[in-house]
Amino acid sequence: MDYLSKNIYQIHEALVNKEVTPLDLVIEALEKIKKDTNNAFEYIYEKEAIEIAEVLSKEEVEIDNPLWGIPFAIKDNFSTKDIPTCASSKLLEGYIPPFDSEVYTRLLNKKAIPIAKTTLDELAMGGTGSSGHKGKTFNPWDETKTRMIGGSSCGSAASCAAGIVPYSIGSDTGDSVRKPASYSALVGFKPTWGRISRYGLFTFSASLDHVAYFTRNVKDSALLLSVLSGRDDKDTTSSTLEVENYLSKMDEKHKPYKLAVIKDIYDDVSDKNIKSAFDKMINDLKEKGYKINTFSIGFDLAKIIYSTYYIISSAEATSNNANLDGIKFGVNKDADTYEEMLFKVRSEGFSDRIKRRFVIGSLSLLEENQQEIYLRALRARRLIVDTFNKILEDNDAIILPASPTVAPLFGDDIPKKSFNKDASIAENYLAFANLGGYPSITLPLGFENELPFGVNITSHHFTESKLLSIAKEVEEVTKLKDLVHK
Ligand code: GLN
Repeated sequence: MDYLSKNIYQIHEALVNKEVTPLDLVIEALEKIKKDTNNAFEYIYEKEAIEIAEVLSKEEVEIDNPLWGIPFAIKDNFSTKDIPTCASSKLLEGYIPPFDSEVYTRLLNKKAIPIAKTTLDELAMGGTGSSGHKGKTFNPWDETKTRMIGGSSCGSAASCAAGIVPYSIGSDTGDSVRKPASYSALVGFKPTWGRISRYGLFTFSASLDHVAYFTRNVKDSALLLSVLSGRDDKDTTSSTLEVENYLSKMDEKHKPYKLAVIKDIYDDVSDKNIKSAFDKMINDLKEKGYKINTFSIGFDLAKIIYSTYYIISSAEATSNNANLDGIKFGVNKDADTYEEMLFKVRSEGFSDRIKRRFVIGSLSLLEENQQEIYLRALRARRLIVDTFNKILEDNDAIILPASPTVAPLFGDDIPKKSFNKDASIAENYLAFANLGGYPSITLPLGFENELPFGVNITSHHFTESKLLSIAKEVEEVTKLKDLVHK
C-alpha cells in the first residue's frame, strides 16, 4: 500500500486507525528511495530510521501529534549530529556535525522519523539543482529527465513531489523553496525572518536566509509552522513573538481580503497559459468578494531586485563561508602554510559557481568598491523594502505567478538567463520577500503539457495566519492539492 503519497493528516489517520505502523512507513520510504531515479539524496537513514521506527511501533500512537511516526527528509545544509552533512559541496565531504540544528531537534522531539538528507545546489547557492557535487537532481514530473526541479532545495522538493515523504525541510535565501515548489506542484513556504530558528542551518547569507519547507497542501504547512516556529535562545535572531495557533486561526471567519498584483512583474510573464490560469484564479477570488488592486513599483525598481539580492547575498556569503578553510571542517590537504592550505582546499573544493560568488562578494566588499557596489546595494534594498512595506500596509498580501515558466530545461537557466542586464524580472523577483523578510508561500496554480506551475502569495511580517488563510482559499479555488508524481 502506498501511504507516503498521502498528506500528513491522512497518514496520521492511518497510524491512529492502526492500518499502518511507523515501521511499515519507514520500509515503504526506503523501498521508494532505492527505486528513485531523481538523484535526491545525500545520506539515507537506513539503519537509524528502522531503529527509531521499531521503538515507536511498540508505543501508542500520539493522537494529538500528527507528525508522530512519519518519515521526513531534510536538506543537507542542516546540521545533524553524527550524520554526514556536506551541503552537496566537495569541500565538506566527510564532515560529521557534532550537534543538531534546532529545526531537526524539534522534529525529533515530535517523534517524526528522519529518512534522508537531501541534495542541494552547492552550499545552497544556486537555483538549478545541478551544481552540487552529485550533479543534477531531476524533476519527477518530467519523465524525459531533461528538466530541472529547481534549487537550491532540489532534493527536498524531489523527494516530496515523488511521493517518498509527505513533507521535507529546505532553506530559502532568495527563492530556493518557493521556486522549486512552483516547478513541482508543491506548497513551498518560508515564514517571516526570525519566526523559525536557524541554529544549525549552514549560513549562506545571514540577513536573507530562512528555514522553509515543502508540503503537499496548505493545512500541512500550517501544522509544520506551529511545530517549528518560536524563540530559540541559541539563535539570537529568532523572534520572541508569541507563536499563534496557525491551524485554527487560518480557519477563522474574516472579511474578504484585499490583494495586490504588481504590474511590472505580472507583465513580464510571457507564457499565455500561466497568465490565463492566474487571471482565472483572480476572477474566482473576486467572485468570493476579494478586492484586487494593481500597483506599479516602476520598471527600474522591479529590475534591481535580483541584482540587489545578488550583491548582498554574495557579499554575505563570502564573509559567512570564510570558515571553510579545510582545517575545521571537511577535507584538508598537505600544506606548509595556512595560505597554501586555503588555496588548495578552496580551489579544489568549490565549483566554479561558488568561486564566482566569492569573487563578486570580495569585489563588492573591497574598500575602494564598497561605496559603489555593496553600500549601494544596501541603499537599493532599503528602497525596495520601503516600497513593498507600503503596499503590504495597504493590502493583505501580494499575489503573483511564482515563476514565468514551467520547469526549464537544464542548461537553459541561471546564470545565463539571470545574470545579465536583460534578466527577466518575473524569473527573479521572489527574492524581494527575503530582502524584506516577509512570509511567502507558493502553491500549485496549473499545468502546461503536464508540467506544473505555481502562484506565490506574500504578506507583511508575522502575518502568517492571514497568509495561510488566503493560501487555503486559493487552494480551494484552484482545487490543486495533494499532488504527487510517482
Ligand atoms: N537561486 C537563488 C540564488 O542562486 C536563491 C538561492 C537560495 O534561495 N538559497 O542565489
